[in-house]
Amino acid sequence: MNILAIGAHPDDLEISGAGTLAKYRQKDYNIYMVCVTDGRYGRTCEPKKMIEIRKTEAFESAAVIDAELRWMGYSDLGIEENLALRNEIVEIIREIKPEVIITHDPSSFNPDHKMVSKTVSESLIPCITTTLESKYSACEKMPILYFMSTVCGTGFFPEQYVDISDTLETKLEMLSKHKSQLEVYTKYESRDLLKFVEAKAFTLGFSCGIKYAEGFRKLHTWGQNISRRVLP
Ligand SMILES: [Zn+2]
Repeated sequence: MNILAIGAHPDDLEISGAGTLAKYRQKDYNIYMVCVTDGRYGRTCEPKKMIEIRKTEAFESAAVIDAELRWMGYSDLGIEENLALRNEIVEIIREIKPEVIITHDPSSFNPDHKMVSKTVSESLIPCITTTLESKYSACEKMPILYFMSTVCGTGFFPEQYVDISDTLETKLEMLSKHKSQLEVYTKYESRDLLKFVEAKAFTLGFSCGIKYAEGFRKLHTWGQNISRRVLP
């Protein structure tokens, strides 16, 4: 069984969803991670060099859980509502046929996060449309979409929690591969990114009575209502 996680920037999935991806991996799911942008405005060096650094970091992180990473290469702050991007995402979904897709919450403040969230949501109908022209057959079942928490949890109210107490270390190991962004958080936000992410998981865990958690929200539309739990 396959799980697909689609993030706008190279470290987004690690910040809000990697504990859950690691948990799926423990259960022998195949994990696919998609990075839509190239992270060029990662702020530690000029864009061309930054892209190479962030690409290397992202592949190193995915390797920790033996996930397959797809690098789409759009520019940071360059994602707009665009049929070509949606078609590319539809093709990825039809190829992988995941049971679950994880992406950004639509309430996110970052325009790339917001646009990825909207595009992924709007890819669900095309991925089950059997007569759509595509290299891949349609998904038999519509994948179940979950939105992961915004970076600081601002404006995000989880509906379901995943216990990541035994995968927190893996999550932090993945995040630690994004060395350039650890530097950015220290320099521009005066905080340790690893500590912040651990504290967020600790707070989410406290709110549901476990040690460490990640939180998710569902898309409430036709095709997305289920009677079973599909998060790990
Ligand atoms: Zn981001």
